[in-house]
Amino acid sequence: MIIDFRSDTVTRPTKIMLEAMFNAPVGDDVFGEDPSINTLEEKAAAMFEMEAALFCPSGTMTNQIAIKCHTQPGDEVICDSTSHIYQYEGGGIAFNSGCSVKLIDGNRGRIKAENVLQSINPKDIHKAPTSLVSLENTSNRGGGSCYEMEDIINIRQACDDNDIKLHLDGARLFNALVAKKQSPAQFGKTFHSISICLSKSLGCPVGSLLLGNKEFITKARRYRKVFGGGMRQAGYLAAAGIYALDHNIDRLSEDHLHAMQIAAALAQKDFVQEVYPVETNIIIFTLKQTISAKELVARFKESQILVHAISSSQVRIVTHLDITPEMTEKTTRFIQSI
Ligand SMILES: *Cc1c(COP(=O)(O)O)cnc(C)c1O
Repeated sequence: MIIDFRSDTVTRPTKIMLEAMFNAPVGDDVFGEDPSINTLEEKAAAMFEMEAALFCPSGTMTNQIAIKCHTQPGDEVICDSTSHIYQYEGGGIAFNSGCSVKLIDGNRGRIKAENVLQSINPKDIHKAPTSLVSLENTSNRGGGSCYEMEDIINIRQACDDNDIKLHLDGARLFNALVAKKQSPAQFGKTFHSISICLSKSLGCPVGSLLLGNKEFITKARRYRKVFGGGMRQAGYLAAAGIYALDHNIDRLSEDHLHAMQIAAALAQKDFVQEVYPVETNIIIFTLKQTISAKELVARFKESQILVHAISSSQVRIVTHLDITPEMTEKTTRFIQSI
């Protein structure tokens, strides 16, 4: 049996989730007539106490639509240098929105209000107008690191003082909410828009949601159509999301426990230089010169354990819904044996 830690996107829908999908009432969502999508959008908006939500095929699309809505061509977006929106969305900020980017070297993916204030362009005809700050929580490249709410509130204040919008790439926001015992409503209050992924740790096959006020979501709905993301009877997919929001959030603490157990085993090993502090479901560790990331990934693979080399000396392990306590134990025993 293969144990797949490459990403939390590898989960398969469970039988009970598939049954919910199979039984979903559907209609044409471009006409606003899919009851399951409408229910999912209302449910997510209510959870975050935001006015409205929009169901999209991917987190890349929800982020890119948000950036498009908040900016004009020629504007500048502020984000951490490791951000998914900058590193892993195909240059979409330039391609879709015609914006430049000001990168901040944050602390494991997290930036602070003072970084933001230093990065805002002065109102000067030589400069691109700064119109958006985007945060990522949890931070993927930061190894699942979480923001303190106080830091986010300070960033929002800096944005308000400079007439700038604040977006959250919350692909793994539920991991942060569970780990930090934070409330979705507090996030809803602090961001102009939030993107959440259903297809990561929540275990859905497809789907992301964009949240914001009514005016923003009306605009976002138009851009979703322009970007080719208007779907028809996608209520079958939304039904998986409804199921996941009801059943798969609280259990994320199990994934976090598994990640900590694996990290503890790694920390004992001579070939490991450093394990990033584990806060949620991602473990990133750096190797000593004695073994390359590629070699270590191959060693794991011989034991049917899949992990991911993110650089020549760093490996990432992600725990998720399909990782059982037995798989975690087998993995820690394997690590001890290396
Ligand atoms: C996965 C991910 C996304 C969205 O990715 P899609 O594959 O397009 O759904 C966005 N941000 C972060 C931080 C991610 O990890």
